[in-house]
Formats: sequence, C-alpha cells, structure tokens
Amino acid sequence: MLRITILLVLSVTVSIALISAIAFMDIDEATEQNAAIRIDRAARAAASIVVHTYPDRFELIRSADGRPLSLRLAVDSPDGVLVYTDAYDALLKEIGLTNEGAANLFRYNMAAGTFDRFVTTFRRPDGSLPPPMSIADGHPAHANLARAMPHVGEVPVMGRMRLAYLTPIVARSGELAGALAVDVGWADDLMAARSRLKSQIFGASAVILALMAAVGVALMRAETKPLRKMAAFANSLASGQTTGPVPFADRKDEIGDLARGLSRVVDLQERLEHLAYTDPVTQMGNRARYLTDLEGAMRDMEKHPIALLHLDFDGFAKVNEAFGQASGDAVLHQAAARVARTLGSSDRIYRIAGDDFCLIRTRGADPDVSREEAARIIDALRAPIILPEGEIHLDPSIGVVLLPDHAGDPETAHRTACLALRAAKQAVEPGYAIFTDQLQARARRELALEVDLREAIKNQDLQLFYQPQICLHRQKLKGFEALARWPKEDGGFVDPGEFIPIAEKTGLIIELGAWVLDESCRQAREWIDGGVDFDYIAVNVSPIQIWQPNFERLVYTSLKRYRLPAQYLCLEVTENVFIGHDETRMMDVLKKLRGLGVKLSLDDFGTGYASLSYLNRLPFQQLKIDRTFVSQADRDPAKEKLLRVTVGLGKTLGLKVIAEGTEHAGEVQLAKEIGCDGVQGFYFGTPVPACMIEPTLARISAILPGLSGAVLKGTA
Ligand code: C2E
Ligand code: MG
Ligand code: MG
Repeated sequence: MLRITILLVLSVTVSIALISAIAFMDIDEATEQNAAIRIDRAARAAASIVVHTYPDRFELIRSADGRPLSLRLAVDSPDGVLVYTDAYDALLKEIGLTNEGAANLFRYNMAAGTFDRFVTTFRRPDGSLPPPMSIADGHPAHANLARAMPHVGEVPVMGRMRLAYLTPIVARSGELAGALAVDVGWADDLMAARSRLKSQIFGASAVILALMAAVGVALMRAETKPLRKMAAFANSLASGQTTGPVPFADRKDEIGDLARGLSRVVDLQERLEHLAYTDPVTQMGNRARYLTDLEGAMRDMEKHPIALLHLDFDGFAKVNEAFGQASGDAVLHQAAARVARTLGSSDRIYRIAGDDFCLIRTRGADPDVSREEAARIIDALRAPIILPEGEIHLDPSIGVVLLPDHAGDPETAHRTACLALRAAKQAVEPGYAIFTDQLQARARRELALEVDLREAIKNQDLQLFYQPQICLHRQKLKGFEALARWPKEDGGFVDPGEFIPIAEKTGLIIELGAWVLDESCRQAREWIDGGVDFDYIAVNVSPIQIWQPNFERLVYTSLKRYRLPAQYLCLEVTENVFIGHDETRMMDVLKKLRGLGVKLSLDDFGTGYASLSYLNRLPFQQLKIDRTFVSQADRDPAKEKLLRVTVGLGKTLGLKVIAEGTEHAGEVQLAKEIGCDGVQGFYFGTPVPACMIEPTLARISAILPGLSGAVLKGTA
C-alpha cells in the first residue's frame, strides 16, 4: 500500500513538474517578448519625443523597420548641446512618464572613452539627484555604444538590473557624442515575480500532493481493510490458531471470492489435520498430537499444573495372537472409550503406539486425585471386554507424572512417565505408580550401570564364581553352578540381580552370556584334567540368549573348543523363557540343544509362568525349586507341604529335583527326606572363585564324610 501511494505521489510530482516547466517556459517566453516589445516601443517613443521637441537639433536615424539606430546632432560638436538644461530635464521626465520607466542622457567623453550621464529621471528617496554615473569599458552597453550602435539589454543601475535601450548620439561629423537611454523598469522585478510564481506553484503542488497522499492512504486503507483482516486470519490459521469462520465470505465481490477460497483451504486443513493427528483405531489423538499437546500444556503448567498418565496393557500381544489383529483393534477402541468416560471434558487421551496410551489431565496435579483417577481407570479397564470372539481380560498399568513437579520439558515428562509405568508394572498392585525421586535415582543408576557394564565386559573385568551342588543320596558332589560376578572398586560385587536385568535389557547379555558359557567350559575341562569328580557344570542362560538363532551353534563351539563332553554341561533356563513364544518353537530350540547332549534344567521353579503341560512335554531333565519354597520349610509346616507337593510333581514328571538356597542343616535334611536329588545352598558352600574351590570341597568333605575321596583324586 505504501508503495502504491509513493508511486502515485511520484507520478503526480513528475506531472506537476512537467506542467510547471512547460508553463515556466511559456511565461519566460511571453515575458521576454513582452519586455522586448515594451523596450522597443519605449525607445521609439523617446527618440520621437526628442526629435519632435528639438527638430533643429536632433535627427533620428531608423532601421528599415523603424527602430531607432542613432540620433544625429545638427552640429559638428556636442559642446553646448549635450549639457544639462532644465529643458532636457523636463524632456526626460516627459519620456519617463510616456514609457513608465527611466530616461537618461549621456555625453561621450572622448578622452576617457566613457559616456557620462548629465541628465536623469532617477532620484534618491529624498528627491535629490543620484551621484554621477558613467558607462565605461566593461559596462554591458559600452561596446555597442562605442561602435555607435544601439544596445538593448539589461544594465546595472544602482546595484540592480534594468532592461534598457541605449541609442547612440553622433555629431554631424560622425563622431560619437553621447547616448539616450530609456528603460521600462527593473528587470529583476521580473525575476522576483518569476521566482514568486515558482514558489507559489511549488507550495500549491506540495499542498496538493500532501492532500492527495493523505486522501490516497486513507482511501486505500479503507479499501484494503478486508484484505488485511483476511491476511491476519490466514496468518493465525498458518500458526495453528483456528479462529472460526473466514470473514467476508458472504460478500459478492472479489474479496468475497477470496474469502470463499480461503474457507476451502480451512476445510482442507482441518481434514488434513484430522488425518495427521488422529489414531485411526481409537479415533483419539495419535503420537504427533500427543507431543504437540503436551508441549502446549507444559508451556502453561506453572499456572495450570497437569498430570501426565502413561498406560499400557501387560501381555496385550496375546490378544492379537489369539483373536487376530482386527479383534485387537476392537479391544483397543473399547478400552480407549472406557478411559475417555472416566476423564473430564478438557482431559485428552492419545494412543501413541500399539497398546500404549497417554493421558493429559488438565485439571490440576494433585497426587491424591491423580491416584484416585488412575485407580478408577484401572477398575474400568479390568472389567472384561466382550467381543463376539470371546471375553477379554486386560491387565492395565499406569505411570503417573505430576507437572511441573516432576519434569520441566516434554521429553523428560514422557521419559519420567515411562519410568513410573515400569514401576507400576513391577508392583503387583495397585496397577499404577506415581513418579518419585527414587525412581529417577534408580533410572540414573541403571543408566550409569549400563555404561560401566559395557566397559567392564570390554575390559574383561567380570569373573565367574562357582557354587557346588550336592547329591544327597550318593553323598557326592553333583556339579557346580557358574555365577557371574562383577567386582566393585571397594572390594565388593555388584549384585547380579541388578546387572543381569540391565544386561538383558540392553542386549549386553549376549556377549556376557557367550563369555560365561565359554569360560565355564574351559573351567570344566581344567577340573576334569585336574581330577575333580563332578557330573556337570551348570550355566545360567538368559531367554534372550536362547532365542538367538545361532545359540546352539555357540554351545557346540564352546564344547568343541575345550573337548568337553556335552553331558558335562547343564543349561539353566528360567521359566521366563516361555513368555511370548509358542510351544512348537520352544520345543524346536530345546530339542536342538538336547540333541547336542547337554542337560537342561528349569531354574527358579515356582516363581514364574511355567505351565504344567509344557513341563510334561519339554525335554528338561532337572527342576530347581526356588529358594522361596525351600527357605524355612523345615520350620513352617505349610511351606513344608508346598515343598513336598512341588518336589512330588517334579518326581512324577520324571525330573531330577534340586532344592535351591538350603542354608541350614534342617533344610538339607528335609530336602533329603522328601526326595530331592540334590541341594545347592550356603550350607554346603557359597559361590567362590575357581581358585577357592579346593578348600570349599574340603569343607564339604568334612560335613559329608561320604564325599571324601570321591571329590578330588589324589586329595584328602
Ligand atoms: P540363580 O540362577 O537362581 O542362582 C542362584 C542364586 O542364589 C545365586 O545368586 C546364589 O548366590 C544364590 N544362592 C545360592 N545359595 C543360596 C543360599 O543358601 N541362600 C541365599 N540367600 N542365596 C543363595 P546370585 O549369584 O546373586 O545370582 C542371582 C541370579 O542372577 C541367578 O539366580 C541367575 O538368575 C542370575 N545370574 C547369575 N549369573 C548369571 C549368568 O552368568 N548368566 C545369567 N543369565 N544369569 C546369571
Ligand atoms: Mg541358576
Ligand atoms: Mg535359581
């Protein structure tokens, strides 16, 4: 708009300047012509008056067109003729009045070459005569007059300029005698009038231009107001603030056309936004919407605290496996609708992945209220979901984060919500957990441990300790369980219960486990060669390792490398190995391992998910009953009963049964009585490094006399 105004003003300025220039040229030309005519007439009149007043004294010489060329004296010398007389004074006054200008008579001074004034119509303001004056060399008229030619042009008079006609006066002899000068007023008055005119034109133009600019701007502002309004609307649309209907859409002009076009853009944008930000399964917000909304809500959280809830379902994959993807989607849809019913209208729910949901609760961040809400959601979700295919029971967990207390930015908020969710999953009840600083500390410690563990594995800082397993009936050493140890700088060890899960989570367990397997085989070979009489070395194998495609190849390589007969290796797997894999697949892997000739032992029996039917069919040879069933069983009849049943079950299935964690003689005795094949526990020995195995076995020999001699060839 400014550009258009400037352009308009510029074009008008140029037009005015052009018109003024043409006008000026015209005025100048007219003025000049006018002045030339006037001075010409004045000269003619003056010469005529002189000749008519003194016909016997002056003769007028004219050009062909009648212009006075000179005045010729009737005498040979000007002496006595061209001298001041009152008659001359009166004559000049007459001429002056006729011409409305001045008149002067000059006498030529031959000696000085100057024309000296001797009569004039000029007067000072006080009426006195002006000082004498001469036309000397350098005067504009001098050159012409000196050649007895008339001069027409501007001449200086009393510091100013006058347009004058000077007619030379010559004696009869032809000698220069003087000059008659007439003028028509001050020539610079013309200049002044001209410049006055100029400044008037300039002033008027400036006023016109200013007016034009002001009116133009005002008109243009008024005309472009709808456009500006629409531009503001388009801007707010582009920055994501939808602002209702597009203005001026009902106008019938170009603005209306533009507005209707913009309306179509708005519709399209809304549709695109819906597609981009909506989860097609639940019709709730998707991950992108969640991240945008979380950021938006957190911008204002100091004033309006919020709660962030992260929800997922344990074992949801099973629903998809059992009923198919479409049913899984239907369950998610119903679950989302149930959650939405428990929320306030301003709260929002998003499905960010698979069975992962996030909820932004905008109505404050009170811990108690959040707890109640989480409990309500869990209750709602635990009620069975009925599908045509069957009834589905969900196992939801919720992690709660209160903002701004627990996080300052969206990324941290989401990460903390994940931590809280993990804590909720680890707790049996109530299914939800609110984030705490301890959780944060634990996460940091885990992260630091992960870094250190990576380094420790690389630097081969880990060690293997061995714990004996005793066969009770034969009173004999059965074998050793290899247990990983990570020495700390203070001389202690990092608890395997802490670093093994981290190794599993990060995949480091594959490298670690391969090393444990290899080192155990090497140690077994060394003991065999050293004459230790034992049945096997037991190696713990994580589910992650066992599902590696080349796992049995790894086992085979280690056995081969140390020429260790396969029956000397017992692989301990926990019941967790069953999670997420079907029986056929498991059977396949375990059979391949069995095919190598290694023993398979089910570790920590009773704590996990092993189904009895699996146990019956899968090729295990041994069951290790978890310490929780064994500990204090000799003093607690209920525990004893449970232990008996469990051992009986193992025996019925034809498995060898080992009782783990036997710490006291009473527990060992009970284990023996109820038919356990072996025990492993602090009673017979804690895990020790290989170099300490001899004293350990010597101590065991002392407890079990039957063991002596059978343990180490050539010792005791
Ligand atoms: P686990 O395989 O059940 O190993 C037995 C655990 O019980 C060992 O704990 C052992 O020190 C402990 N224990 C044995 N007798 C007694 C007793 O009388 N009283 C008590 N209170 N505890 C006893 P540790 O060495 O701390 O290992 C814990 C778990 O870490 C192991 O449980 C095993 O699941 C895992 N782990 C250890 N080393 C490895 C490894 O090299 N690979 C894998 N995948 N897991 C390992
Ligand atoms: Mg074990
Ligand atoms: Mg165990």
